[in-house]
Amino acid sequence: MSEPCAHLHPGPNPLNADLIIDQHLGPADYVAACRHCGQPYLLEMIDLSGPLRAYRFAVLDEEHARRFLHNMSKGSCDLNRAGAEVMNLATLNPFAKQVLITDVVAGVIVALQPMDHIPMQSWRELACDGSWCKAHAAS
Ligand SMILES: [Zn+2]
Repeated sequence: MSEPCAHLHPGPNPLNADLIIDQHLGPADYVAACRHCGQPYLLEMIDLSGPLRAYRFAVLDEEHARRFLHNMSKGSCDLNRAGAEVMNLATLNPFAKQVLITDVVAGVIVALQPMDHIPMQSWRELACDGSWCKAHAAS
């Protein structure tokens, strides 16, 4: 598994969304790239609270990311197909054992928290009660 790039740390958020897969009050699940070094990531929301968002994320192989963006850009409105593409991407590029917490209003990364047990369901199946965001704020 690849390590996150050196720019992924608390401070100004260096991630630029390339493709939004799912939205809820802003990007929920999306593919982004670091604006400094181009490292691609897959981010999937696991919690939200006010302006805070908590994500699990995978550091993507650049070729996998390129192929994924290419396949998704073919204009397929077949949701099952899109789901399969995302699943394939996540299988090839395992999620990091860290939770990324961002503030979407301030545009910053608030924290990068090492976590052993990160939920793997879609945010639509999770409580999204702010507990992941608050767990950080309390620490
Ligand atoms: Zn970077």
